[in-house]
Amino acid sequence: MATTGTKTFKNYIGGEWVDAASGETFESLSPATGEVIGAFPRSGKEDVDRAAKAAREAYEEWRLVPAPERGEILFRFAEILKREKAELTDLMTREMGKVKAEAGGDVQEAIDMTYYMAGEGRRLWGQTTPSELRDKFNMSVRVPIGVVGAITPWNFPIAIPSWKLAPALVCGNTVILKPAEDTPLLGERFVELLEEAGLPAGVVNIVHGFGEEAGDALARHPDVPVITFTGSRETGVAVTKAAADFLKHVHLELGGKNAIIVMDDADVDLAVEGIVWSAFGTSGQRCTAASRVIAHEAVYGELQKKLVERAEQLRLGPGWEDDTDVGPVINRAAIEKIHSYTQIGRDEGAHLLTGGEVATEGELEKGFYYRPTIFGDVDPQMRIAQEEIFGPTTALIKVGSFDEAIRAANGIRYGLSSSIYTRDVNKAFRAMRDLVTGITYINAGTIGAEVHLPFGGTKDTGNGHREAGQAALDVFTEWKSIYVDYSGKLQKAQIDNVKPGA
Ligand code: ADP
Repeated sequence: MATTGTKTFKNYIGGEWVDAASGETFESLSPATGEVIGAFPRSGKEDVDRAAKAAREAYEEWRLVPAPERGEILFRFAEILKREKAELTDLMTREMGKVKAEAGGDVQEAIDMTYYMAGEGRRLWGQTTPSELRDKFNMSVRVPIGVVGAITPWNFPIAIPSWKLAPALVCGNTVILKPAEDTPLLGERFVELLEEAGLPAGVVNIVHGFGEEAGDALARHPDVPVITFTGSRETGVAVTKAAADFLKHVHLELGGKNAIIVMDDADVDLAVEGIVWSAFGTSGQRCTAASRVIAHEAVYGELQKKLVERAEQLRLGPGWEDDTDVGPVINRAAIEKIHSYTQIGRDEGAHLLTGGEVATEGELEKGFYYRPTIFGDVDPQMRIAQEEIFGPTTALIKVGSFDEAIRAANGIRYGLSSSIYTRDVNKAFRAMRDLVTGITYINAGTIGAEVHLPFGGTKDTGNGHREAGQAALDVFTEWKSIYVDYSGKLQKAQIDNVKPGA
């Protein structure tokens, strides 16, 4: 229940701000200080039922609103996000913990995505194609699907909702957002601003609560035919199972164990910059974070030395302070998990080069801070090189050749992002071909996706779908093929046009 003095927020369902049916709430805490950010409705099945009914009713009208008009509402939303960028950035440093520059980038990504998808309102292209018969016209068009359930994580609390909601809405679907329980206020602000942009009642709804309660109810609701989920692999499997009885479209964006390869001909200083940014930015809590560095033996020693030096210079602190390099991790469970992997790495015989401990000096003691951690001499099969830690920990792996580097990079269950530093164009092109990931960077770290290209991964990172770019439209629409026969007579495809003897 809410502590005295805590502001209590509501769900937004069918155009009204309402409490959870249970009347219960849960609190959002700042990972930087432990301060209570607010209390939010602890929703369950009844609330999801209500939201699904409102979204289903709104869908029948929203799908008929011309797509350019839907796009104009999104355009207004992008303008509002721009206006609110500073406020949302500050709030993100408090509720989620990332540093100011990265929080601003998170909001900017939402602005970019919303403008991009607003433009889709005047595209949403299908195809026209010749018919095999005379006096017949063929085309394919995208049609909306219905109510979309969007289940989002805390690590990109504004960007990820935009990746899901902007395309879902412009395509003519209505949405129920279940934001992460660690960042509900940012989810709430996102929906409040969408409301201000002029979405009709019921087109966007937010239901707060825990994954196993509100999230699960959404995943298994019969009137929510599309589930788009970003989170851990385990939860992705649970969501898929919950949705299976209704044969829902399930879009999953799951974990990563991304590697940066540094070849013997690389610009080592440039690689160090990329590794520090990719491994320790957002305290390593990005699905594209570089949690493995695969270095050629000719540069391994130099790279290790420079990386450790740089990691030790990083300043931990609250995200809103200008000189903070690394903010807190999201909560107590996260810090315990990250620390347990330090122990696992030690037990496995990896060499702890720096970090490996909770930072508690001064004000840091109030929050959840973990020192940037680097393991050396890591075998690619060790758990610290195989499992997603989701914290500021990276593993250095030494290899003797390009082929060995590619093998190590691919030798994991995930396939989100990868990177190679090399000055050899042949190696760069081979890496582009052979790295089994959805995203590959050449001479840059593992992060830095832009909104107009597909985002997602191979293998256990997902189930074959992609967010962002044109690929996102495939998650939120179905194809309809239309045949118009204007011959005025019965024409039979594959029969009338086949010559005798063919
Ligand atoms: P993380 O480990 O990054 O917190 P999770 O996969 O646990 O990722 O959470 C991502 C989102 O999925 C959150 O909104 C969370 O509430 C939700 N979630 C967690 N468990 C379930 C579940 N069983 N069914 C549906 N949603 C869930």
